[in-house]
Amino acid sequence: MKSPQKGFNTICTHEGEIIDEQFKGAISPIYLSTSYAFEDVETKRYPRYFNTPNQEALCKKIAKLEKGEASLIFGSGMAAISTSLLAFLQKGDHIVLQRTLYGGTANLVKQEFEKYGIEFSFVDSQNTKGFEEKIKKNTKVIYIETPSNPLLSITDIMGVVELAKKNDIITMIDNTFASPVNQNPIELGIDIVIHSATKYLGGHSDILAGAVISSKKNMDIIFQLAINLGGSLSDFTVWMLERSIKTLGLRVQQQNKNAQKIAEWLETHPEIAAVYYPGLTSHPDHKIAKKQMKGYGGMLSFELKEGLDISIFQKELKLIKSSMSLAGVESTILSPTLTSHSLLTEEERKQQGIKNGLLRLSIGIEEKEDLIHDIEQALQKIKILDSTLI
Ligand code: PLP
Repeated sequence: MKSPQKGFNTICTHEGEIIDEQFKGAISPIYLSTSYAFEDVETKRYPRYFNTPNQEALCKKIAKLEKGEASLIFGSGMAAISTSLLAFLQKGDHIVLQRTLYGGTANLVKQEFEKYGIEFSFVDSQNTKGFEEKIKKNTKVIYIETPSNPLLSITDIMGVVELAKKNDIITMIDNTFASPVNQNPIELGIDIVIHSATKYLGGHSDILAGAVISSKKNMDIIFQLAINLGGSLSDFTVWMLERSIKTLGLRVQQQNKNAQKIAEWLETHPEIAAVYYPGLTSHPDHKIAKKQMKGYGGMLSFELKEGLDISIFQKELKLIKSSMSLAGVESTILSPTLTSHSLLTEEERKQQGIKNGLLRLSIGIEEKEDLIHDIEQALQKIKILDSTLI
């Protein structure tokens, strides 16, 4: 009998696993050796060559989850991003990028590319026409990130893919916010998918890692630069990441459900001025999100009504922790103005629609009723404080 295609959670649990022939243990053994015997010229095992047993096992799992042919695991999301970009860009080339990018990616481009002689253009709107207007004869790469941080705006992936194919341009996407549970860009025609595995793939706020997934041909080009730049991940963390991904599907499904309910609740709350979540029909990009996403993710943002103090609100939260990162099993919150986007000028934040009263919530796997209760009690406290001040 022909075996059926494995389902997502089966891939998360088993794909690539190393079978423990010696002791018949249930999980992949961990190989921490940095030194392996010479077998042949082709198989020179060494951690910086991205080919230890644990790295190879995890790469199989991640490639399968993102529907790619091959993948590489890096020491951080930024190592994955910088290596991928530099592998496809040379002196005299041009790249078009969405303006609303993770700050580290934008800084890499703005602070480093000039010295390599690589030209770049940022696109202010996320519609396909905006990208088209920036394309030049020497454009080699279009780079997008959707949903975006912190307003969860959506780039039309298929629109960008069509445009890029017409112009013979490589497409790259940062798929961190969606995770492979909610969005598989390779199925939509994207060439290279990148993750900060520090976020949903890791999912427990205890791993720093990155991943790139693509065709074997593209991964070979990235690999050639990767071994020279040396951004591989230690095998202990590789093993932890393999373990974390076993629950990726379960975690993100719960985060999706929680986020949808909490976004709907916030939208009707009298103390809330605005909610940004692609799963809401009121979200301006909801239709595009519905077309290209399988779920809407665990990230949402909202604004308190004018006059309500976001710092006091965050301090009053008992369950939801104030935190700079995201995508853990625990719910966390931050103010983009004070943290992730503090390096932008007031004007730049305004251009991107980031108001001072905006809060970005990373929804965890707790019970949604407990999260709603936490937000409600904090809102009630700041309302009382606000009225006693008057
Ligand atoms: N991409 C996104 C969307 C991120 O949020 C981050 C980090 O916050 C990165 C990339 C960079 O990843 P790392 O911190 O693992 O280098």
